[in-house]
Amino acid sequence: MKVLVLNCGSSSLKYQLFDMSDESVLAKGLVERIGIEGARIKHVKTGMEPVVSDLPIPNHKKAVEFVLERLLDAQCGVLSSLDELSAAGHRIVHGGDRFASSVRVDAEVVKGIEDVVPLAPLHNPANLTGIKAMIEVLPQLPQVAVFDTAFHQTMPPKAFVYGVPYRYYSEHKIRRYGFHGTSTSYVANRAAEMLGRPIESLKMVTCHLGNGSSITAVDGGRSVDTSLGFGTIPGILMGTRCGDVDPVVILSIMEEEGLDPKEMSHILHKESGVFGISGISSDLRDIEEAAAKGNERAQLALDMLVYHIKRYIGAYAAAMGGLDAVVFTAGIGENGIQIRDAVCRDLEFLGAKFAPEKNKVRGEEQLISADDSRVALMVVPTNEELVIARDTVRLTAAE
Ligand code: ADP
Repeated sequence: MKVLVLNCGSSSLKYQLFDMSDESVLAKGLVERIGIEGARIKHVKTGMEPVVSDLPIPNHKKAVEFVLERLLDAQCGVLSSLDELSAAGHRIVHGGDRFASSVRVDAEVVKGIEDVVPLAPLHNPANLTGIKAMIEVLPQLPQVAVFDTAFHQTMPPKAFVYGVPYRYYSEHKIRRYGFHGTSTSYVANRAAEMLGRPIESLKMVTCHLGNGSSITAVDGGRSVDTSLGFGTIPGILMGTRCGDVDPVVILSIMEEEGLDPKEMSHILHKESGVFGISGISSDLRDIEEAAAKGNERAQLALDMLVYHIKRYIGAYAAAMGGLDAVVFTAGIGENGIQIRDAVCRDLEFLGAKFAPEKNKVRGEEQLISADDSRVALMVVPTNEELVIARDTVRLTAAE
């Protein structure tokens, strides 16, 4: 079975073509600047140099057509006919409380994703353009929607209801939804496999640390709490997002500077976090470099990030009443040796004995705790696309 996985943004489209007989990636690529000047498509056939083409791409339908053209190309292609494609899987950011698992796409599901647009006004419309473009270009191809929020639908009300009047939840669906669920589900399952233990028996804290970050309590394979919420701001310090702040701080800034919600939203999403604290960059590598040269605000940003991660690990261990593994993933989690070191060094009181000599890895699966550590500390590179491809097979293979 060959499965095309699509992740559609408002002006971009990322894709990977899987051969699911062995879960290998045959080709992948990125279409950028769709609908704007300077559009380009970068296509990589596995094992070959990337092929980059600059060409006008007015809309997502055209982008999908170009992707299919590349996949069929005599040189850089991997398909001899589109009939070889069995199905397409789509990453959808928000499934609201309606989608607790992946689903086959039909008109009802498209409507369901549209209904959730108010909860993810930037992402869901962009994700939907990918589905609609595929329906236009290949109407017969089975399609599956995989939601970033779905994995967290197992959270109990005590974790997802906010302490504002209950009607905001019951009437307006304002609650914690959580994100990065596809990634979290992958790394939690993979970590259990690596440990050779059934996931049902494990209490884990997963740390998805990228530009956007979230920490999740995974008890028995189910999400029971997560640090992102109704939106994508809360939790730990991120690249440009502030993480948890006292809501009064927000009210006070708005009042003091006469800001409207849109302006305040920009500050919280784009001008805060590691970038806002350091005044240098949102990229952790720049911050580590500046801190090493003695920049105090860069050092503060690092200290805050590490502290926030620790705080959540401790909180979630207590919330679950135990801890068997802490899992690091995404850009910083997979590559940030220094951050992992600082987080893991004094977790012995929790039963986690760090092994610094095992921590020198980037982007590789690795146990970074000592052999006699009761709690496993682990690096598990994420693979959201593979989860989407697997769900796509699961929901379409019967045909
Ligand atoms: P996104 O949330 O955009 O998917 P990523 O998962 O790609 O983000 O993570 C991006 C972050 O990973 C950046 O802050 C980047 O600095 C960090 N990162 C990538 N490589 C390294 C590295 N070698 N050392 C430290 N941080 C790294």
